[in-house]
Amino acid sequence: MALALDGGNPVRRHDFPAWPYHDDTERAALLRAVDQGQWWRVGGSETTSFEAEFGEYHGGTTLAVTNGTHALELGLELLGLKPGDEVIVPAFTFISTSIAVQRAGGVPVPVDVDPVTYCLDPQTLEAVRTPRTRVVIPVHMAGHVADMDAIGAWAARHDVVVFQDAAHAHGAVWSGRRIGDFGTLAAFSFQNGKLMTAGEGGALLMPSQEWFDEAFARHSCGRPLGDTHYEHRTPSSNYRMTEFAGAVLRAQLGRLAEQNARRESRWKTLSAALREIPGVVPQGRDPRCDLNPHYMAMAALDPAAHPGTDRDLVVRALVAEGIPAFVNYPPVYRTQAHEALRGNGLPDTAELAERNPVSEHLGAHGFWLHHRVLLGTDADCADVAEAVAKVLTELAGKKRSG
Ligand SMILES: *Cc1c(COP(=O)(O)O)cnc(C)c1O
Repeated sequence: MALALDGGNPVRRHDFPAWPYHDDTERAALLRAVDQGQWWRVGGSETTSFEAEFGEYHGGTTLAVTNGTHALELGLELLGLKPGDEVIVPAFTFISTSIAVQRAGGVPVPVDVDPVTYCLDPQTLEAVRTPRTRVVIPVHMAGHVADMDAIGAWAARHDVVVFQDAAHAHGAVWSGRRIGDFGTLAAFSFQNGKLMTAGEGGALLMPSQEWFDEAFARHSCGRPLGDTHYEHRTPSSNYRMTEFAGAVLRAQLGRLAEQNARRESRWKTLSAALREIPGVVPQGRDPRCDLNPHYMAMAALDPAAHPGTDRDLVVRALVAEGIPAFVNYPPVYRTQAHEALRGNGLPDTAELAERNPVSEHLGAHGFWLHHRVLLGTDADCADVAEAVAKVLTELAGKKRSG
């Protein structure tokens, strides 16, 4: 079976379900927003209604914003982060988690993730704690909720604030608790690939109306809700969501529960099939994670079983086989963005690599599949596993024959 990359027949000739999913509900929502004649939230009702619906679903008070990165930045502004304050972030995450800290004037301190769940490992926290540690941002990686019990307990003991990066975790549940039930700030993203989307968009979930009032002003050039006299209380930016985005997100939220259930069911099939392939290790699960919405279907190669196999080549070969595959995030400290912290006492990359072996492994040997592979049938999942097995077998054969 020649690889599609080498001109062979691809495993898949037909595509997986399209994303973003949309139908007449989105069309009607957009028309509603257009015909409302008020296209920003201050005069309209779509974004306000979306906030009420999203907040009720997640157990908190919601402010919709322009994107997930801004939700993180706004949250840190609300927490009063000061220059030089340290914020603990997982080394393995999308870069916004740590860039938001830099933009707020803080210092992101990367720590390693758990080898099974790929989420911030609570065991790493104590070693990096200093008198300047203010906030910890667990990321619910690919939809798997981080160990909120251990992180919450450690943070409470040391007067550190927890701020969830829930950009992958719409609708997730941990030990019977929704994201808002933890009583912390949480940032969501509605970027094109995320579990619900308006192309761009974000939300900050908060514990109370008092938080909302302050957040509202700070996402609107410092103006409180209802202000008509240019009362700018803080030098804040503009992160307001449009009515078009708010209307589309109401339609998308309406499908979230059904799509989450479908992805959960398909992931059982896909992860079991991936586990059968020697040297392929899918993301595991803490039994306390009751609902994982599966933003990404993630796995890593065991380099001992696949010595010398080039992960980037595996991903290119999978794409040629018709599978929407991507390389994993590099550790945040392996970016030029993070290098900008140099001169601030930043440890060098070799030292950070030594401290974060799991993030190094996942960055070098991990790959992920778009969640649309989990929105189809069990037969679709079987095709994905077949393609992974084919690619690894063929690449190993090529290595043997030199
Ligand atoms: C997508 C994402 C963000 C940022 O969201 P945007 O809407 O793209 O700005 C933040 N954190 C994580 C973990 C993400 O995956």
